[in-house]
Amino acid sequence: MDFLQPTTWADALAAKAEHPDAVPISGGTDLMVGLNFGQTPPPALIDLTAIPELRDWTRDDGTIRLGAGVSYTRIIDELGAQLPALAQASRTVGSPQIRNRATVAGNLGTSSPAGDAHPPLLATGAVVEAESVRGSREIAIDDFYLGVKRNALAPDELIRAIRVPAAVGPQHFAKVGSRNAMVIAVCTVAVAVDPEERRVGTGLGSAAPTPRRSPDAETFAAASLPWSGGALDPDVAREFGQRLAAAASPIDDVRGAAAYRSHALAVLARRALTWAWSELQEGRS
Ligand SMILES: Cc1cc2nc3c(=O)[nH]c(=O)nc-3n(C[C@H](O)[C@H](O)[C@H](O)COP(=O)(O)OP(=O)(O)OC[C@H]3O[C@@H](n4cnc5c(N)ncnc54)[C@H](O)[C@@H]3O)c2cc1C
Repeated sequence: MDFLQPTTWADALAAKAEHPDAVPISGGTDLMVGLNFGQTPPPALIDLTAIPELRDWTRDDGTIRLGAGVSYTRIIDELGAQLPALAQASRTVGSPQIRNRATVAGNLGTSSPAGDAHPPLLATGAVVEAESVRGSREIAIDDFYLGVKRNALAPDELIRAIRVPAAVGPQHFAKVGSRNAMVIAVCTVAVAVDPEERRVGTGLGSAAPTPRRSPDAETFAAASLPWSGGALDPDVAREFGQRLAAAASPIDDVRGAAAYRSHALAVLARRALTWAWSELQEGRS
């Protein structure tokens, strides 16, 4: 297996164009597991870790631009206030060693329905910056996931960055696993409250062939929450949870039963909205 290690973004794109079968590697925490478990090795790896610009994040006009090489550890340490749901999700990924290496770009590259970064990206309306020698394009997160471990990247494209709107209100991520750490999700939920726009973004994971939003729960929340002030009606929170759960199409598998996933999603969504609304009220008082 060839090992290509470009030190500039332009060289990485050129390497991908020249070797279409070469596979990019960031943290390697998905890729190397697959290879160690007997997946057919690709003819070449393109290591992206020597490209300095990918390791940086910047803030521009209310949007955080996460370079493809930014680790979960840095998101937790540096972006907890600006990207709360993504930071909360990052805290649940693997172990400290995994979080030091692994990236959101790698989570997107794998596009597992169980990837923890996806629900926060969906709830906040993130955008994936994809690029090849042919040019660059922005892929709205809603259009990114195509099926189980399939995404909208063209064969010659690499993810350069992910743009995530900085939080303008409370956000929460909640995960059920078979234990508290080092666990692939049974199901996950993210909510992002935007009190200015009076909307609630949603994302759910590990409960459908792809991570997805619940437009129905979002519309319901926008119409039913007391945006001018006041406590959250428990019936509204419950209905929100049920509508979010109805957007899933879970299966029975080794990690959980479909019926359990549906129930858990409704509970997680109700709790996440309740926590977020309490924070909003506390911030106002
Ligand atoms: C012990 C362990 C525990 C884990 N726990 C969790 C968990 O709790 N939650 C969770 O979500 N995941 C978990 N994972 C999986 C993994 O850590 C995550 O999916 C992580 O986000 C992958 O990032 P990476 O940078 O290591 O990706 P890599 O392994 O480097 O790459 C993953 C895929 O993305 C592609 N890719 C990487 N970078 C790019 C790019 N810039 N452009 C285009 N394609 C790219 C690669 O070609 C590959 O297909 C765990 C893994 C291990 C080994």
